[in-house]
Amino acid sequence: MLPLCKPPHSILGYILSTLDSKFLTLKQLQQIHSLILTNGHLASTPLITTFLHSCYHSRNPSYALQFVYNLPASFSKPSLWGSMIKTSLESNNLRDFFTCYDVMMRCRNYDANIPSVGMFASIFQYGAKVGDAQLGRLFHCVVVKWGFDSDLVLQTGLLDFYAKIGDLRSAKKVFEEMSQRDVVACNVMISVLGKHGLIKDARVLFDSMLEKDSYSWNSMVSCYFKIGDIDSARLLFDKNPVKNTISWNVLIDGYSKSGYLNNADNFEDFVTLYNKMRSSDVCPSQTILSLILHCCASLCASQLGKTVHGEIFKWNFNHDIVLQTGLLDFYSKIGDLSSAKKVFDEMSHRDIVANNAMISALSKHGFVKDAQKLFNSMHEKNSVTWNSMITCYSKIGDIESARFTFDSNPIKDIVSWNAMIDGYCKSGHLEHAEELFHKTEVKNPVTWNTMIAGFVQGKEFLKALRFFDHMQDKRVRPTEVTMVSLLTACAHLGALDMGEWIDGYIKKNKLKIDVILGNALIDMYSKCGSISDAVDVFHKLQSKNIYCWNSIIVGLAMHGYGNEAIDYFLSMKKEGVKPDGVTFIGLLCGCSHSGLISEGKTYFSTMETDYGIEPGIEHFGCMVDLLGRSGLLLEALELITKMPLKPNAVVWGSLLRSCHIHKDTELGEHVTQRLLELDPYDSGNYVFLSNLYASLSRWKDVDRCRKLMMENGVQKVPGWSSIEVENVVYEFVAGDSLHPEFEEINGVLVEIGRRLKEGGYEADTGGVLHDIDEEEKEMSVGYHSERIAVAFGLLRIPFGKVIRVVKNLRTCDDCHNAMKIISKVYEREIVMRDRNRFHHFKNGVCSCKDYW
Ligand code: ZN
Ligand code: ZN
Repeated sequence: MLPLCKPPHSILGYILSTLDSKFLTLKQLQQIHSLILTNGHLASTPLITTFLHSCYHSRNPSYALQFVYNLPASFSKPSLWGSMIKTSLESNNLRDFFTCYDVMMRCRNYDANIPSVGMFASIFQYGAKVGDAQLGRLFHCVVVKWGFDSDLVLQTGLLDFYAKIGDLRSAKKVFEEMSQRDVVACNVMISVLGKHGLIKDARVLFDSMLEKDSYSWNSMVSCYFKIGDIDSARLLFDKNPVKNTISWNVLIDGYSKSGYLNNADNFEDFVTLYNKMRSSDVCPSQTILSLILHCCASLCASQLGKTVHGEIFKWNFNHDIVLQTGLLDFYSKIGDLSSAKKVFDEMSHRDIVANNAMISALSKHGFVKDAQKLFNSMHEKNSVTWNSMITCYSKIGDIESARFTFDSNPIKDIVSWNAMIDGYCKSGHLEHAEELFHKTEVKNPVTWNTMIAGFVQGKEFLKALRFFDHMQDKRVRPTEVTMVSLLTACAHLGALDMGEWIDGYIKKNKLKIDVILGNALIDMYSKCGSISDAVDVFHKLQSKNIYCWNSIIVGLAMHGYGNEAIDYFLSMKKEGVKPDGVTFIGLLCGCSHSGLISEGKTYFSTMETDYGIEPGIEHFGCMVDLLGRSGLLLEALELITKMPLKPNAVVWGSLLRSCHIHKDTELGEHVTQRLLELDPYDSGNYVFLSNLYASLSRWKDVDRCRKLMMENGVQKVPGWSSIEVENVVYEFVAGDSLHPEFEEINGVLVEIGRRLKEGGYEADTGGVLHDIDEEEKEMSVGYHSERIAVAFGLLRIPFGKVIRVVKNLRTCDDCHNAMKIISKVYEREIVMRDRNRFHHFKNGVCSCKDYW
């Protein structure tokens, strides 16, 4: 109940401002009304305005209208009407607005100041805000009729209105007709031009402005970002003398949306910039901090991320849930789970996004039980929650729990299907993955990519290529990820034609060749035997990372180009790329294959002192190989006995190969014993030992060796060779008679046998006798898989074209010899990749110089 005594002016004002006007009844309003009327001194304009607001808020607009209409003419009414019009529009009530406008116009007879400029301005403001084009245009006509159209405030209001409703033509017209253009008007015009992509016009206007405020600079920077011109945006940002928080927001938002900060160099530059902002003491907004945290997380920039954590405290944002979740994600991504947990535990309120982030953090670090506990405790789950849990189980190989979660998920979306298919692929259950793939009604490119990558991982390379055909049939556009998988498949199969086709496809469809795809291309060309194309791709890459350099160095080494591998290593250093362990494997392997003994020794001895890379077991393996090949068998043995690591089968194996090449049976026998102790299940070791005995005609030992192998239950790796003919890859195993063209192939094989004899070739009779061979031997060496593949190549690949064969095992001496003679007798170039390296057979000679 309101007091009925006569309160002084200030008290009534105070009561009105503090009362929750929503709860005022009509009766109470009438009481206040009579108080104002009976106390003349109370009837000041501000008090009446407050009163009118109260009328509106208590939903009695007609009472307010009546009140103003009945006020004596002595009151200055224009501002009251303005306030009423504004209030009716603010409460989004167009009916009240028009009634009010109507009553006001009837009052015009008493007051020449009606209508006022301010009132029209509020109408345009409203039209712009709600996008009511009709209302704004109607009042544009009214303004012209009243002769207000040369008023600067109204013109700016109209300009803004047309800008907001996207009517560029009218906006331009208003702007051109303006008698005077101030900063605000120019700013509006810049942003409308930018919105319509007319960046050049915007820039001309921007440059012509005599006075610019921070809004002008920010609008122009934002225009450049909108068209993706990051350089111009940055240039202008740097020039801006009045940077504020919004300027930084615009820059960081533009950077993050364009993916510019994903590049490590760009990010480093950005960090410098960010530190400048901190020293200038601009308070960063939550949006800025959140965006930076996101970048830090994806780039693993732990130092900056921790600084941002400090900033969050400094500016008192530590209860912002978005920032807290960002911090959690950041700590998880840099591998600091305990800090991530701490952030999560300290959160006063946790929404679904925060919970999901914690589940994926726990899952990433292998704490599946904790993830499961959190998952079960969540009352509200969205599809991200379910999908994270599926991925979490798949990651640890608990495919049953993953499937159970998948089946229980009531809101399966395409991501759930993809996650489950991926889980099956990663755990090697390709049949289940394929089954689910066919069950999925909606497939997106990710679904296809997951399946193709799954086949590549499972070494089902032919199937991966076949799936790509299906993908083409279904007109699904492949992505860069698809191409990387396919190129990997081609590299394994040695399918050069297919690889070339994919390269062409990438160019034709303008797919982005980034370092990953570029690296896949280099690897494919190098593994398919076309090192010159690999070098070509390498030089055309816009940016190269350590992986690209390693690929080309290893590639050159595998092809026996040791000197070139060294050259590339030197240019890599010149470009400031720091070599790693893999670089040195390539380098040492290159030296070894090319007989560059002193170079190899130098690189091996300096890798730790000059480059800080501790030699691993692979590097010792390379060195043993290098020394052994060049006949320095004892030096190699000394290196093995003195090495700080326990020598493995690969290291001993290298020495054994050298013993074989240099026919040192005594040392060979010793080495083989070491090898059999280390790895009694590797068939290759028995092969070497038995070969060694056979070459000395120690048949009893050959026999003993075979028995030992059977006793130990050694499984021989099935050998296969592949060859690509007209874009189709064919695979053969030893003694393969299943091929539909076997009759014809056999004809060629018999003919090869005959012509080899004429060419001076005699089969290695010892080879047949020793009975154990690295390749499964059903008939004789004449039917080793690489020979069948080459015979098929002679049959189907036109004369003059290189025959390319890939074999999964090391090729035997006998086949190596045969290939050399085939290359001469048939005048065909043969490129064969075996487990160790490339062999280019031409004119009866092999590029490996018989060391492999
Ligand atoms: Zn063979
Ligand atoms: Zn060779």
